[in-house]
Amino acid sequence: MKAMQITAPHEALVLADLPVPRPGRGELLIKVHACGVCRTDLHVADGELTGGKLPVIPGHEIVGEVVENAAGAERFAPGTRVGVPWLGYTCGACAYCASGRENLCDSARFTGFHIDGGYAEYTVADQRYCFALPLEYDDTAAAPLLCAGLIGYRALMMAGNGERLGIYGFGAAAHIVAQVARYQGRRIFAFTRPGDEEAQGFALKLGAAWAGDSAAKPPEELDAAIIFAPAGPLVVNALRAVAKGGTVVCAGIHMSDIPAFPYAILWEERVIRSVANLTRRDGEEFLALAPQVPVRTVVEEFGLAQANEALTRLREGRLTGAAVLKIRT
Ligand SMILES: [Zn+2]
Ligand SMILES: [Zn+2]
Repeated sequence: MKAMQITAPHEALVLADLPVPRPGRGELLIKVHACGVCRTDLHVADGELTGGKLPVIPGHEIVGEVVENAAGAERFAPGTRVGVPWLGYTCGACAYCASGRENLCDSARFTGFHIDGGYAEYTVADQRYCFALPLEYDDTAAAPLLCAGLIGYRALMMAGNGERLGIYGFGAAAHIVAQVARYQGRRIFAFTRPGDEEAQGFALKLGAAWAGDSAAKPPEELDAAIIFAPAGPLVVNALRAVAKGGTVVCAGIHMSDIPAFPYAILWEERVIRSVANLTRRDGEEFLALAPQVPVRTVVEEFGLAQANEALTRLREGRLTGAAVLKIRT
């Protein structure tokens, strides 16, 4: 099969010809139709996230079709369309797993990082971590729901119930979260790279009440802010923008260092927190909610061999919505 592999950090992905993987007990062999391109893939390719396997096939927003069920993997019949997310395995026994926090499992393994992912014509996944996908979405439209959507949803829940929500970085996750937040009756304040009028226009089109530069002061205090862009200084900007008791949620897996800041901007019960990974429950909830909103994903399609171009465009902020590799043509 054709696959795009990360062979070494800081180097372009390599198009490889590999044997189709074999599913082990409890696993599905999946023919990949589409795979979303997530900022986490970029962090792995750029060597900012280490500890995974190498070489690795990245990609953890996988939409595909079950083509083979190994023993003990009867949950999805052959031909069923399934989604494969970032969470690929948990131990089920540690204190985190036992307390409904499998996203923090001590032995968690992640798709496209510890386990080969979806930048390939085929992949193998543990059926327990796969999702059924809502029929309302075609393959490329569904792909961004599986990480940008899921993690965005988890971040939104961690932001509390406040009405005035700031979003820093208006890319794949933000464009989905904004639609869910609007559905919940919140107002969105979108912060983008300075001068990025295209992203600001995109945010306004999706119903944001205001859009501006990341260093700007919003027209009113915010109840919460979610930071999707991987830039530590945004934490300080967001703290200055939230009201007393407000929460700043850092939703990315990697961020540049957060500069020192005066305690006064954290004082009055402001909170900074991160959001890590997903639970299967997040996935089930979000995939049921998305068609009700209804969330409409905006995607830019690329071929499998164009994965490097998609990653470059993501790195440079030159994408509208989410990049998706369309693998079955
Ligand atoms: Zn565990
Ligand atoms: Zn992701």
